[in-house]
Amino acid sequence: RAKQNGRDQVMMFDQRIRDEARERNRIEQCLRDAEENAELEVHYQPKIDMISGKWVGAEALLRWTHPELGRVSPVKFIPIAEECGMMGPIGEFVLRRSLAQMKELIDEGFDLTVAVNVAPVQLRSPYFTDRTLGILGESGYPLERLELEITESGVMESPGYVEKQIAPIREEGVRFAIDDFGTGYSSLSNLATMPFDTLKIDRSFVMSMAESEDRRVIVQLILTMAKQLRMKTVAEGIETESQLAALKEWGASYGQGYLWSTPVPFAEFARIVRGQAKEGSGTAVAPELVS
Ligand code: C2E
Ligand code: MG
Ligand code: MG
Ligand code: MG
Repeated sequence: RAKQNGRDQVMMFDQRIRDEARERNRIEQCLRDAEENAELEVHYQPKIDMISGKWVGAEALLRWTHPELGRVSPVKFIPIAEECGMMGPIGEFVLRRSLAQMKELIDEGFDLTVAVNVAPVQLRSPYFTDRTLGILGESGYPLERLELEITESGVMESPGYVEKQIAPIREEGVRFAIDDFGTGYSSLSNLATMPFDTLKIDRSFVMSMAESEDRRVIVQLILTMAKQLRMKTVAEGIETESQLAALKEWGASYGQGYLWSTPVPFAEFARIVRGQAKEGSGTAVAPELVS
């Protein structure tokens, strides 16, 4: 009986691996045509100034809806795109699209920035710097209103190379953020010398703050350290008023999370921003719209 059970479990395990491999292949095949078939879209999640409570920008987040697979999470398809060499073109699509869309609002006079994620494989490419500079140049977008996010683990893979890759882009006025901070293994000395402007505290820390004093202490220490290093901070994944109150008290510069909004399509983001401007609330309104 025990032997039989063991064999059944092995078979179920084999079956699961086969299913997963098949699903991966399917996703890979479909992803190849996703851009051409206009299945990719960029959504925007607002970033809020902790002091004024105003919307000061957004993070661009990729969305993929396939006619048969339905909506596939970036958590699932981005690692596949990275392995199959598709992340370069996809990342460039996100950058081009988000600069073009946010430029519309900036041209209307809104005081906004956009943050775009860069995958570690993109950074590793020897063409990354030149291709990115090319896209930025063609966009006509004000570059001091762009921030590029790189995950902590992506940076720490090879800090020296990352630094070399991003230096010419920083010279154009683009800012850089360390994403998902607290999940990688950066040494303090690395963090202090790396050319980053912003530190984004990973959502897992914000989520578990209520659970333990230890977690709260860690979040406070990260915020203090960032301040000492003259970095701005973004707390990700704020869902409750009590999380907001604590993070504000501890000096986080910006917040992002479902408490304000999930990531939404550009049209929706623009509608909210324009609506807030009319009410004279919410979004950071450009001076020329006020007067
Ligand atoms: P990330 O860059 O850390 O983005 C934040 C993620 O947290 C987003 O998930 C966002 O929807 C989610 N989030 C924000 N606030 C809350 C909240 O209050 N509660 C909860 N439960 N979740 C919240 P999303 O859009 O599914 O993206 C997941 C990850 O996929 C991103 O994490 C990023 O690593 C990657 N990703 C998404 N779009 C792109 C892209 O265009 N390029 C690259 N390289 N990676 C991307
Ligand atoms: Mg991010
Ligand atoms: Mg993040
Ligand atoms: Mg995260």
